[in-house]
Amino acid sequence: MHVAVVGAGVIGLTCAARLAGSGHRVTVTTAAAPADTTSAVAAALWYPYRAWPAEAVTRWSARSHTVFGELAADAGTGVLLRAGRELLRSPAPDPWWAAAVPDLRRLTPAELPPGFADGFGFTAPVIDMSRYLAWLQSRAESLGVSIVVRRLSTVDDTEGDAVVNCTALGAREFVGDRSVVPVRGQVVRLANPGLTEWLLDENDPVGLTYVVPRIDDVVCGGTADEGADSGTPDPGVEAAILSRARALVPALTDAPVLSRGVGFRPTRPAVRVERKDTGGRPVVHCYGHGGAGVTLSWGCADDVLALLDRPVR
Ligand SMILES: Cc1cc2nc3c(=O)[nH]c(=O)nc-3n(C[C@H](O)[C@H](O)[C@H](O)COP(=O)(O)OP(=O)(O)OC[C@H]3O[C@@H](n4cnc5c(N)ncnc54)[C@H](O)[C@@H]3O)c2cc1C
Repeated sequence: MHVAVVGAGVIGLTCAARLAGSGHRVTVTTAAAPADTTSAVAAALWYPYRAWPAEAVTRWSARSHTVFGELAADAGTGVLLRAGRELLRSPAPDPWWAAAVPDLRRLTPAELPPGFADGFGFTAPVIDMSRYLAWLQSRAESLGVSIVVRRLSTVDDTEGDAVVNCTALGAREFVGDRSVVPVRGQVVRLANPGLTEWLLDENDPVGLTYVVPRIDDVVCGGTADEGADSGTPDPGVEAAILSRARALVPALTDAPVLSRGVGFRPTRPAVRVERKDTGGRPVVHCYGHGGAGVTLSWGCADDVLALLDRPVR
């Protein structure tokens, strides 16, 4: 089939590469170049954050964990496998997505910094998005995918035997889905003083805290503000992020700031991976991945392929 994919964030590009690798002819149309999408701002730590429902998210995350594990063998992808710790301020049961991680273990008291009561350790893919999106684009192009930068108004504007809608927040206008809402996130990137371990503290009463060492930099976050709409990094928020990150990892105290970013997580009560045939064509929707689009990308792309390959009803 000739498949029109709309969107070139991590979801659109992953779907395009997956479909083209399975023999479909794929054209991607996108309002913004990959480097200018929300996906480019992601930290990007493999972690199922602000995405539902639990069963599907666990399955998609597990599949992506496996694929990223394979991609990490190729330095050109920008994918790393890094050990890290999720720190908790009170004892908690295993995370709902525990089945997605092969080596999840509970931390020993000796592994908990002061102020923490519990936690988990596991190996997670860490994806350096500036490298990874470029690699994903060139992998898709090497499989014959063409990418056109143009905003489309509706599904009817697309050409092809089938459509895959990966418009994220754009789905509010593209298909009129007002249940997708932006959750603003701010990050600051520091020069990496040699860190390899990621750290996550979701329950800091002052704010979400994560430290994700990539190849050249360390992404520090974060925030999760529903309804906030400023695309400009707030200096006060940045100072608070840096203070929390440096308290957790003192080695970052003198690390210079390299850059800063803001993005809007496309959050929805449930990630939409669903086929609705329209005008005799299969239309597969794949959007609303919240704070976990990278984490879910390969699992969702598998489902998109399976949905597309069913006969038209
Ligand atoms: C600060 C921050 C940190 C994050 N950290 C992580 C993390 O550590 N791990 C993780 O897994 N996730 C993380 N995320 C979440 C992740 O970034 C998103 O879930 C992911 O980027 C969603 O990918 P997407 O391709 O659906 O959306 P996007 O990247 O937003 O791409 C949407 C695409 O659709 C196009 N589009 C929209 N409307 C139209 C239209 N009408 N016509 C044509 N094209 C259109 C856009 O131009 C764009 O190409 C983070 C997000 C933020 C903001």
